[in-house]
Amino acid sequence: MGRLFIETLSGPRIFKCKFCKVDSASYDDIVSKEFQGRFGRAYLFRNAVNISLGPREERLLTSGLHIVNDIYCSSCQQILGWKYEKAYEESQKFKEGMFILEKERMSKEVDIV
Ligand SMILES: [Zn+2]
Repeated sequence: MGRLFIETLSGPRIFKCKFCKVDSASYDDIVSKEFQGRFGRAYLFRNAVNISLGPREERLLTSGLHIVNDIYCSSCQQILGWKYEKAYEESQKFKEGMFILEKERMSKEVDIV
């Protein structure tokens, strides 16, 4: 009950939920921009805020089998991407605990060239 707590990020370049404009992740936390999401290009972040997790599920991605949780904006409940809970392949382990945010679901405070 009560009000939803919204975390605000500081920094020059912040990705926001496209739908309700709360902060989602900082540009400084991008690990890779070379990911493919459901809606096109997606970015891998080491941190994300104002999100809620869906149920854990096994999902076969282009990089192999993973356990993931979908992530939703905690303010407007729109799906934003997913979190890597577990990767089975050694080469993919670095992604565990990281977040994929779909570029298409984000708006940027400042455009990235
Ligand atoms: Zn939102």
